[in-house]
Amino acid sequence: MADVVQKPGNAAAGAKAASGAFTPAGVSPNRRARHKYTVRLWAVRNSRLLEWFYGRFADAFLLLHPLWKKIGYQRVERPITFIERNVKGFLFDCRMCGQCALSSTGMSCPMNCPKQLRNGPCGGVRANGNCEVEPDMPCVWVQAWNGSRNMAKGDAILKVQKPVNQSLRETSSWLRVTAEAAAAREAASKEA
Ligand code: SF4
Repeated sequence: MADVVQKPGNAAAGAKAASGAFTPAGVSPNRRARHKYTVRLWAVRNSRLLEWFYGRFADAFLLLHPLWKKIGYQRVERPITFIERNVKGFLFDCRMCGQCALSSTGMSCPMNCPKQLRNGPCGGVRANGNCEVEPDMPCVWVQAWNGSRNMAKGDAILKVQKPVNQSLRETSSWLRVTAEAAAAREAASKEA
């Protein structure tokens, strides 16, 4: 009988099967680059600083509203989306859902939850605080709670988030928030 040569991949799969870890088809614990966890965890640890910085950044973006309006929001959408994707992709592993919840989720992006839960963790968080689907990944929502406790407006995590509007995917939430704030400001000044 021929000897069965066990390849490293088979050995890892065997070990995993023995551990009983559940892995749905098409999802690999190694799918996400480990260095991203490191940056993501840094963002959560520094959520208060990022909250402060985002506040200043949003104000600056709003100040530029006349410029965006003059060029046309539609025209600037593409370059701004490119910048947003790269900056937030590096810092938060952003999935460009287009309706950013970071300021309400302790700077931990909820779209990194394999179940894409936007309102808290599922019942499967492991005892070590990791995800049940991706066992080597810290649960996005455990991190979100930790990050929110450092933030000045951290209780925003208690606010119920709307379901994701899929039609906004791959659009800039920076521009949307700015356009909405500018519209609200104009409406308020008309009423006054
Ligand atoms: S909530 Fe959406 S926009 Fe914000 S970081 Fe996550 S995927 Fe990106």
